[in-house]
Amino acid sequence: MPKLSLKDLALKNKKILMRVDFNVPLKEGAIADDTRIRAALPSIKYVINEGGSLILMSHLGKPKGKDPKLSLVPCAKRLSELLNMPVIMARDCIGEEVEREAKALKPKQILLLENLRFYNAEEHPDNDPSFAEKLSKLGDIYVNEAFGTAHRNHSSTAAIARFFKGKAALGFLMEKEITFLNMALENPKRPFFAIIGGSKISSKIGVLLKLVDKADALFIGGGMLFTFLKAKGIEIGDSLFEENELHTVEDIFQKAKQKTEIYLASDVVITDNSENIKIINCKDGIPKNWKGMDIGPKTVKEWSSLLNKAATIFWNGPLGVFENPAFAKGTNGIALAMASTKAITIVGGGDSLAAINNLKIEEKFSHLSTGGGAALEYIEYGTLPGIEALGSV
Ligand code: ADP
Ligand code: MG
Repeated sequence: MPKLSLKDLALKNKKILMRVDFNVPLKEGAIADDTRIRAALPSIKYVINEGGSLILMSHLGKPKGKDPKLSLVPCAKRLSELLNMPVIMARDCIGEEVEREAKALKPKQILLLENLRFYNAEEHPDNDPSFAEKLSKLGDIYVNEAFGTAHRNHSSTAAIARFFKGKAALGFLMEKEITFLNMALENPKRPFFAIIGGSKISSKIGVLLKLVDKADALFIGGGMLFTFLKAKGIEIGDSLFEENELHTVEDIFQKAKQKTEIYLASDVVITDNSENIKIINCKDGIPKNWKGMDIGPKTVKEWSSLLNKAATIFWNGPLGVFENPAFAKGTNGIALAMASTKAITIVGGGDSLAAINNLKIEEKFSHLSTGGGAALEYIEYGTLPGIEALGSV
């Protein structure tokens, strides 16, 4: 069902309450990466240019109560630098003082509320429905621009929308995320190839089952590769193994049978307890006391040439333990191969994005999803609680 867009609403002289995802990584109290703040800038600038006043709200980290280390003050400062205009920082997210501040806002002014998760009710709207209602008092219009949190049924992402019937909209980032993910899910330009890595099958069952249905080929790497190899009767030594997911692997092979090619890595980089490293062909099996850490160079070469034939590529999950440079060549090789194709390229997942950031090839991709878990849930279910709550046009 189509949802209202920020573009559909008259914003002049209105108070726009916008849920953003300023859940940025912090290092010693400073913002280590401001990608998420930058991602919200188009919507923020649009509201300001249209003559609305903006009340921004977000969570940051996982505070237990009011933890000053997880204050949004650094985000207010960074946003102010990025916009080159003042951003007023509230001392709380609900209560009389904030209500007064919101009311006093003039058009083109911005107020950032303090960390929503200082209140337990943010994550548990049913425990205290009045929290969402108190937040709702701050604005005339509600905009959800927090894709990274849109898979959560929280007060500020979902419960709040019922106070804004006909006045609850998607922000531009949300629309962009949905558009690109739909591009892969609904009517992808074919051939559509999906590359899945990361650590565990169990965290990606829904996505794997969905993609085996939608894609023309599925490439499997990362830790989950070894349960796939094991299912084929290949010895995997001490590699990551999820015995309980053997049936999921069977389901995937079964579903793939008719129409989807499944590519498992043909060689892997393995290591033993003494940190020796070697490369072996998967068909020969991984010796006892050795474990698979990355896809091998032959696989990178084979997959890279196949990827050149794709019209759409979706990638989630590093193909090896890329945090260690000795096991990053597979992930980096495939990221670079993807970056050099002419295909529509979509990447989801925090760690996959980190790999692309390390290589500084961000601009070579069609879309880098800002929401890891949210992107995966969107692929699985085709919608998210934060989208559904908005109601239809
Ligand atoms: P994303 O954040 O992109 O969705 P995941 O969180 O699913 O990715 O997986 C990332 C993790 O998978 C990384 O920490 C990486 O070390 C791990 N991983 C990749 N390959 C292996 C492997 N062969 N064995 C164990 N862990 C792996
Ligand atoms: Mg991750």
